[in-house]
Amino acid sequence: MADLMDKLVSLAKRRGYIFQSSEIYGGTGSVWDYGPLGAELKRNLKELWWRSMVHQRDDIEGLDSAILMHPRVWEASGHVEGFTDPLVECTKCHRRFRADMPEVESDQCPTCGTKDAFTEPRMFNLMFKTFMGPVEDDASLLYLRPETAQGIYVNFLNVQTTARQRIPFGIAQICKAFRNEITPGNFIFRTREFEQAEMQFFVEPGDDEEWFDTWMDARMRWHVALGVDRDKLRFHEHTPDELAHYAKQAYDIEYLFPFGWKEFEGIHNRTDFDLARHQEFSGKRLEYIDPGSGERYVPYVIETSMGVDRTLLVLLADAYREEEVAGEERVVLALNPKVAPLKAAVFPLVKKDGLPEVARKVHEALRDAAIPSFFDASGSIGRRYRRQDEAGTPWCITIDGQTNDDATVTIRDRDTLEQVRISTDRVVGWLEERLRT
Ligand code: ATP
Repeated sequence: MADLMDKLVSLAKRRGYIFQSSEIYGGTGSVWDYGPLGAELKRNLKELWWRSMVHQRDDIEGLDSAILMHPRVWEASGHVEGFTDPLVECTKCHRRFRADMPEVESDQCPTCGTKDAFTEPRMFNLMFKTFMGPVEDDASLLYLRPETAQGIYVNFLNVQTTARQRIPFGIAQICKAFRNEITPGNFIFRTREFEQAEMQFFVEPGDDEEWFDTWMDARMRWHVALGVDRDKLRFHEHTPDELAHYAKQAYDIEYLFPFGWKEFEGIHNRTDFDLARHQEFSGKRLEYIDPGSGERYVPYVIETSMGVDRTLLVLLADAYREEEVAGEERVVLALNPKVAPLKAAVFPLVKKDGLPEVARKVHEALRDAAIPSFFDASGSIGRRYRRQDEAGTPWCITIDGQTNDDATVTIRDRDTLEQVRISTDRVVGWLEERLRT
């Protein structure tokens, strides 16, 4: 199964899902660019998350906070002091590794195989540093945020008062985060620049454990509803030594990737740690005043933190199939139509009898209805199907000789390969119906 990763990387490149960043210069360490199909898949994933977390709830507000923040934020959050990984270097090949990797723990270099050649571990801070303004001195030192959560905490009262929310309520955002990971890898699984879809839910202390359970359940159900194989999903509870400095309780949602069970979303009970620390470091009160009882308190926070890129890798790995159809091998990405980059492809069977023009009209009608469609008049019909199967397009619409006789087209289902014939003017409605359910 490990070569599934190679197949995914190659399919992602071939079909324009994901390219290595700055490839013409030999690539940048562990940074990836999303191509035409990848950009659509990512947008769809983020949009579904936003819809379920923000638009479909009265108790969650959206936010879009800046990447650059006051440097004191990261002192208050504990990242300056504690966002570190232990790093060792192999004295033979000079490659650096995280000291807690299993190979390193058994004292063998994962790259050159030398035994007992590691330096003593030293703590390495994962935050990227940068400078604001023209003078590179300490006064203007800033960090690229390693998580999006802090942008939410510092805006807690701004959002609560302007949106007139009462506890319990949440704030959600989808944004970039940066971590100078020592050993990135596994394609888009661990990168140095990535996106997080995070939601911080503010609750009254004492209600936190119940809300924690509610969110654990809701987040797992969301991934299952997206079509991810339930047998490849599980919870992992953090042991006391795994718990982050701010957390009282934490569960990861893990997926069985080709390289093993790994986390792609975390649910954390962060208590009042972050708000209390920002109160202390900023000198500003971050208390909630209960409008009923007049009681003041610093709320507890339940966080759901999903890696967008890692979830996208879950979707790709889960959707990848190799099958034999009519004696021929095909590769298909059985993506949920809701996240699939293209919903339809339109093929005129031959380039005569006005068929390309009719096909164009169908394609344009889909486009006008905001259903992403691809027009393809080149190559054999078999080749056209194969291309769309690999792209994960759920429906291919063929305009053939019969179209001119009775104004009908065929629609082929990507997964079942079943074909239905429907009248040309029903195509848009037919697709809309299936995309709604
Ligand atoms: P890991 O243990 O894998 O480093 P983490 O526990 O540090 O992850 P969190 O801080 O809980 O991760 O971040 C929440 C989510 O953000 C993760 O579940 C993951 O999906 C995503 N994420 C974190 N680090 C990276 C990274 N370097 N590349 C891609 N996604 C990441």
